[in-house]
Amino acid sequence: MKFIADMMLGRLARWLRLYGYDTLYGVKDDDEIIEIARREGRVILTRDSGLAERAKKLGLEVILLDSNSLEGQVRELKRFGVELKELFPPNARCPKCNGPIRPVSKEEVRDKVPSKVYESYDEFYVCEDCGQIYWPGRQWKEMVKIDERLRRV
Ligand SMILES: [Zn+2]
Repeated sequence: MKFIADMMLGRLARWLRLYGYDTLYGVKDDDEIIEIARREGRVILTRDSGLAERAKKLGLEVILLDSNSLEGQVRELKRFGVELKELFPPNARCPKCNGPIRPVSKEEVRDKVPSKVYESYDEFYVCEDCGQIYWPGRQWKEMVKIDERLRRV
């Protein structure tokens, strides 16, 4: 399942990427969202009933979300059969850009992360598209807590 999310769903889009779903985000124009969904076989995620109606009439797959909160939106997605896969690499995609993430050796990131981080961690990942480096630091641990909450909704 691949998605394209409307501009109101930035947080959800980042989380879907962390769960490994190919999720486009950042396209402002409804016509363009519809065109990309058609061309790439993506399910449209939207909170806009007008966009949902238009896309459905064109035979596209749409999930119209009601909730304002991440938890509520995940609950709705589960009702549509979207499962939360394993969080983080190697399954995850880059939350910033949707690119694939691969493990890298400590050596490879030596000059690219703060020296404190380099000394404290042995596990690193890099986004192949934007070059962002990830490691299991404080932010990562906070995400694990949110993940536990999302699995229970
Ligand atoms: Zn990236």
